[in-house]
Amino acid sequence: MKSNQGFRLDIAMKLAARVSHVTPSMTLAIAAKAKALKAEGIDVCSFTTGEPDFDTPAHISAAAKQALDEGKTKYGPAAGEPKLREAIALKLQNENGLCYGAENVIVTNGGKQSLYNLMQVAIEPGDEVIIPVPYWLSYPEMVTLAGGTSVFIQTTAENDYKITPQQLRQAVTPKTKFLMLNSPSNPTGMVYSPDEIRAIADVVVETGIYVVSDEIYEKLLYDGAKHFSIGAASPEVFDRTITSNGFAKGYSMTGWRVGYLAGPVEVIKAASALQGHSTSNVCTFAQYGALAALQGSQAPVEEMRLAFAERRKYMLEALKSIPGLSCVKPDGAFYLFPDISQTGLKSLDFCAALLEEQQVAAIPGIAFGADDNIRLSYATDMETIKKGLERLEKFVRSRA
Ligand SMILES: *Cc1c(COP(=O)(O)O)cnc(C)c1O
Repeated sequence: MKSNQGFRLDIAMKLAARVSHVTPSMTLAIAAKAKALKAEGIDVCSFTTGEPDFDTPAHISAAAKQALDEGKTKYGPAAGEPKLREAIALKLQNENGLCYGAENVIVTNGGKQSLYNLMQVAIEPGDEVIIPVPYWLSYPEMVTLAGGTSVFIQTTAENDYKITPQQLRQAVTPKTKFLMLNSPSNPTGMVYSPDEIRAIADVVVETGIYVVSDEIYEKLLYDGAKHFSIGAASPEVFDRTITSNGFAKGYSMTGWRVGYLAGPVEVIKAASALQGHSTSNVCTFAQYGALAALQGSQAPVEEMRLAFAERRKYMLEALKSIPGLSCVKPDGAFYLFPDISQTGLKSLDFCAALLEEQQVAAIPGIAFGADDNIRLSYATDMETIKKGLERLEKFVRSRA
């Protein structure tokens, strides 16, 4: 057998301009570095994870296995299995008060592809997309890849990292297409109250823009916080809403790659055509797992939520006792977003030194547009949380 061992790859291909400004995911890079250190036998406490640390609930895996055994292994409709689209529409009606039918839903390779498809079918060069800061790091990249322009709204800890209706009104221009709304938020964990959502909805209608509501963390809420879908605020805003969601975070199904986009039929049709020429349908038997997630017991979701709630409580308490860090209390997702500005360090230097000196991995806030913060995920076990926070305290004290 011949192998190509010994040859050197030496390409100088000119790449397309559209990818020249895209940066690889920083969160993935740091998580990988922490993993590599761990593999070397170094005792690293990692707070970098962006996914639940639980197994997918057993009944969901069983349903996918059964689908495999039943031969659900062929191509399906690009927009998703009709049964799943139907079940998602029903869920959106019953849980979210959104009047979607199956024709308003496309099943996608995660919430990520749902948003990516939307940008590709809706954004033209020159179109503006309003993105509150701190933001999920893929939003601006997706806007860039579609040829659009991101317009950022700065938020503050005093405002719980939420935008105000006035800020939104001021950011809108004749070129504005979308507002990206992510509640509960990655990276801040903040949850907009129903009244705050209604006030934003009023501005969306008044200014005639559209709102993209990324509700991927809707199931992860604490201390009595309520999730409210902006599309449910009024019939007028419903017409201007596109909803994105998925199974990754709530059902611990990150690797399954099942999400969905819901909105006006023309948008869904265009996204289906695009998907039909790119990825085609989402893995057929994975869709049957997702169907079981919607139709089966919701008890495992609550179990995971309770575990997150306990860790969140512990971490918030422990952070309070670290002078030099301040942290607003977020009521959703599985992230805390402490402010590190009193240490005099910016986020990249902070995280590099923290990993170097105390073997604690955290994500620099700059990845989310906020250089005075770090993101700590509590999608990890209590032991790591306890040990990691002791080390974090040591680190911050050593800088005082
Ligand atoms: C994780 C995440 C998503 C989507 O993740 P998928 O794995 O593609 O479903 C979307 N938005 C935010 C804010 C996220 O954190």
